[in-house]
Amino acid sequence: MMWRNRKGKFNASRCTCANGHLHDSGLESRRCDYLHLLMRGDEEIYGGRLDAIEVQPTIELRVNRVLICKYRPDFALAMRWEKQPIYEDVKGIETAVFRLKRRLYDALHPKNPLRVVKRAGRAWIQV
Ligand SMILES: [Zn+2]
Repeated sequence: MMWRNRKGKFNASRCTCANGHLHDSGLESRRCDYLHLLMRGDEEIYGGRLDAIEVQPTIELRVNRVLICKYRPDFALAMRWEKQPIYEDVKGIETAVFRLKRRLYDALHPKNPLRVVKRAGRAWIQV
């Protein structure tokens, strides 16, 4: 049987990470652990260092001040010295709505596009 959760992901079992958040999938939970490891180790990601990690922030996508939709990426990454956070999603099943929101987000933030990562073997890669 196929279940859809709040984010519309299929068959994703919710999973608690080492930081005690309830994530929508095991993959998302592992990514959260990895990001916290980078932050604690003061290691670079996306060319900078992490100051804070927010899980499932809600952002509004507006065109000409008109609210088109809300979007909840998996993570907001507050980067040291940067005003704008980097938003990141762990790639699950790519729904049509996700593709549309990604394109809209990227069109609104050409200098700071949405980062989408997936697991490839033992590494994370950006897609
Ligand atoms: Zn977490």
